[in-house]
Amino acid sequence: MSFTRYGSVAPAEEWCRAALEEGKTLGFVPTMGALHEGHIALVERSVEECDVTVVSVFVNPLQFDDPGDLERYPRDEDSDARALEEAGCDLMFTGTLPEFFPRSFDEMGSLEPGALVSPGPAAEGLEGASRSGHFVGVATIVHRLFEVVSPTRAYFGRKDYQQSLIVKEVAARRGSPLVVICPTVRTAEGLARSSRNERLSEAERTDALALSEALAACDALWREGERDAEALSRALSRPLEAAPGVQLDYAAVRDAERWTSEDPSGPMGSCVALVAARVGPVRLIDNLVLGEGEACEISLGAGSRA
Ligand code: AMP
Repeated sequence: MSFTRYGSVAPAEEWCRAALEEGKTLGFVPTMGALHEGHIALVERSVEECDVTVVSVFVNPLQFDDPGDLERYPRDEDSDARALEEAGCDLMFTGTLPEFFPRSFDEMGSLEPGALVSPGPAAEGLEGASRSGHFVGVATIVHRLFEVVSPTRAYFGRKDYQQSLIVKEVAARRGSPLVVICPTVRTAEGLARSSRNERLSEAERTDALALSEALAACDALWREGERDAEALSRALSRPLEAAPGVQLDYAAVRDAERWTSEDPSGPMGSCVALVAARVGPVRLIDNLVLGEGEACEISLGAGSRA
């Protein structure tokens, strides 16, 4: 199948409907563009598993709490299109907020509150606490994208751990699609790939390695048998508090099976370590499910892990 690119929502919706009517399985990878190897890994997995692969490239204003961050978010759609075609993607599309939500804008040009989708309990704490309204924006656009594309399977990255819980909740409520959470792709040094890394200098990239190094140290402690939540959390936050060029936002552990907004205490059965920090001009996040390595997860219901 040849590569198709649409600059608006309606023809993309039509294209997806036609593919489904032909009985094809449809893999979907939602992105905000400035594509890197992390995104491409999701696309390649979809190409492997599905008859057709659709990628959205949309910098969703609803999920930005900082207008400056939205404005400076890197964009390069032509280069994205070349990378997607090479990876075997069949359809790339973008759109505008009014195209995604044609009947939901008031006279002031704002999205009506009724159009917003609840992100559920996993939005509480950490990213949800640091970025007001972020996960409502994520849940709203993901829900709408699922309506537009009607994917069989949707591919997301473990890199955005808390987001992956919210996406699974949105999919579980709708009864589809099957959500596939893929491992975090990193540089050889360990830095999690991110579109925001483009804005780091060489020196800041080196400083940013403190995040993955702290996660690796916490993972090593877990593998040695440490299960105490406070001890694991301390092992994660201490090196980051001391790291040059790193302004720590949070370093926390959570039960990997059950999200809580509060820090857990006592012994843990399963554990995900999560960090967020400002390095130079950008805010970076990373996480690791301790003892698990970079496993893949397929989910039909909210919160289930495979
Ligand atoms: P974004 O364009 O940042 O909204 O990301 C689009 C999708 O790519 C999300 O599901 C992210 O979790 C995923 N993603 C971003 N960075 C990585 C990475 N380094 N490895 C794997 N997936 C990623």
